Amino acid sequence: MTAISKDFTVAELTFSQIASRQGIPNIPSAAQLANLEDLCTTLLEPARALLACPLHVDSGYRSPAINTLVGGASDSAHLDGRAADIIPIGWTLLAAFHALRGSVLPFDQIIFECNAWIHLAIAEFGSQPRRQALIAQGGPGHWSYKAA
Ligand SMILES: [Zn+2]
Repeated sequence: MTAISKDFTVAELTFSQIASRQGIPNIPSAAQLANLEDLCTTLLEPARALLACPLHVDSGYRSPAINTLVGGASDSAHLDGRAADIIPIGWTLLAAFHALRGSVLPFDQIIFECNAWIHLAIAEFGSQPRRQALIAQGGPGHWSYKAA
């Protein structure tokens, strides 16, 4: 288990159920790995500290093939290793979403995704975080978003 930050591992941030079931590699480049590290340090560790609980990472980095399989947006921040879908353990998802959204965390985007997980993304390198909060509805391939 290679640690990527204090509480997160590379394995957690690159695991994909579809990838492992279908034998598709999901290996980030050095640049994508650097983004994942930045994501952990900038958002995931502070979110973990703020909520005072472990975060289950449902999806972090996604290769283009995996992103297509899961119905991710073609410009998804997961493709760059800038996003993770998290489930805070011991919180109701909506309460955790509001706690994170109301915090000073420098997220580029936070999305409440159909009561299944919370998408947290950092800004592209050199860009200011937009602090955009959205609520997603629909499903893979037909998501729609409204401001939270
Ligand atoms: Zn996501």
